[in-house]
Amino acid sequence: MGAGHAGLAASHFLSERSIDHVVLERGEVANSWRRERWDSFRLLTPNWQSRLPGHRYEGPDPDGYMTMGEVTEFIERFATLSRAPVRTGTNVTSVRRTDDGYQVTTSRGEIRCRTIVIASGACNLPALPEFADAVPDSVEQLTPFDYRGPGQLPDGGVLVVGASATGVQLAAELRRSGRPVILSVGEHVRMPRTYRGRDVLWWMDASGVWDERFDEIDDLSRARRLPSPQLVGTPERTTLDLNTLASMGVEMVGRWAAVRDGRALFSGGLRNVFSLADLKMERLLDTFDEWAKTHGRDAEVEPPERFAPTRVPEAARLQLDLRSGEVIAIIWATGFRPDYGWLDVPVIDAKGRLRHEGGVVDSPGLYALGLPVLRRRRSSFIHGVEADAREVVEHLARQLAVRR
Ligand SMILES: Cc1cc2nc3c(=O)[nH]c(=O)nc-3n(C[C@H](O)[C@H](O)[C@H](O)COP(=O)(O)OP(=O)(O)OC[C@H]3O[C@@H](n4cnc5c(N)ncnc54)[C@H](O)[C@@H]3O)c2cc1C
Repeated sequence: MGAGHAGLAASHFLSERSIDHVVLERGEVANSWRRERWDSFRLLTPNWQSRLPGHRYEGPDPDGYMTMGEVTEFIERFATLSRAPVRTGTNVTSVRRTDDGYQVTTSRGEIRCRTIVIASGACNLPALPEFADAVPDSVEQLTPFDYRGPGQLPDGGVLVVGASATGVQLAAELRRSGRPVILSVGEHVRMPRTYRGRDVLWWMDASGVWDERFDEIDDLSRARRLPSPQLVGTPERTTLDLNTLASMGVEMVGRWAAVRDGRALFSGGLRNVFSLADLKMERLLDTFDEWAKTHGRDAEVEPPERFAPTRVPEAARLQLDLRSGEVIAIIWATGFRPDYGWLDVPVIDAKGRLRHEGGVVDSPGLYALGLPVLRRRRSSFIHGVEADAREVVEHLARQLAVRR
């Protein structure tokens, strides 16, 4: 289910084993990239890292970052090369268990199958706090699914909520368009774009941090909820952290906690939030340094660096009158969640998450791919799917053989 890179990678390994299958896609191949990102979007993973089974970036700019059109093309090319049997325009509306497999209802009829790989994505819907409903109607509310660019908004201030990759990128773009921007900052993962002369994601890759397996992680459910790193892909390889945004004139406020009488109330813990993010970044950089030393790689990279702590604003405000006209729009960059509304099998927990062990779902013959830290830390990224898909399809093939 799903012709994003995860579903297509599953298809690649199913074909390799001559397992008869079909890829159902409600839109087109790479639908999420075509329909659900803003206009200026670029990957935050560098081109050299874009690799799928038997297909990798081979263009002239390995250290660059793909635009939305380029990612779409990259995934489409993979679908063509692997001859994936994709049925586009086929929306799955229900999946039910039968005695020997599953009954799938789609917008184009019924299908029976013995196994299903759910690769319908981890980011189908925006995750909004409940108090979004209490925001006065005079303020426009957008999610990253609706936002295309600053030109779409009337003149005036914008409140961006969330300081992970999406939030910092949109706050910077809106500020550059000349608007006053306030950024509400909760937990975030700070990272420099480059470290010791290399892309920080090179370090994640080379040092093996990204290869940590799901069954080796102490607090797996926390690892699965971690926000995306504060990174942006630009031709200049710029770092976009909170200090950069503050220098651009973006105002920082704490986590948005509630709406009362038309006022947004922010928490006052910015100092703690900043120092925790700084501390975790330092620890990550220590891990990289240690790896370079013990693996004899020190000579091929620049000397260790440390970065200025995140500057705490002198007096971050604790509330904002949403009826005053100071902000005309709110952008919720508060994360995403999957949509399993079509899944009529009892495998969803109280928090709306799929119950699975490394992609083997808690129902025979049901599998998943493309979810955060599914089998490794890198699982939900493009370069993370190959190993996961190989292993999940291996399990699936064994199951089919046993049943036969
Ligand atoms: C804002 C953002 C930025 C990201 N940046 C990066 C990055 O820089 N580098 C990187 O490696 N990763 C990045 N990712 C993570 C990841 O690569 C994407 O989330 C990717 O789209 C996941 O691939 P997927 O195949 O699992 O899911 P998707 O690409 O979402 O594919 C799922 C497919 O399933 C289809 N589908 C869903 N429901 C149904 C249904 N009921 N019936 C039929 N079809 C259905 C959808 O139309 C879609 O085509 C980013 C994610 C987001 C949200």
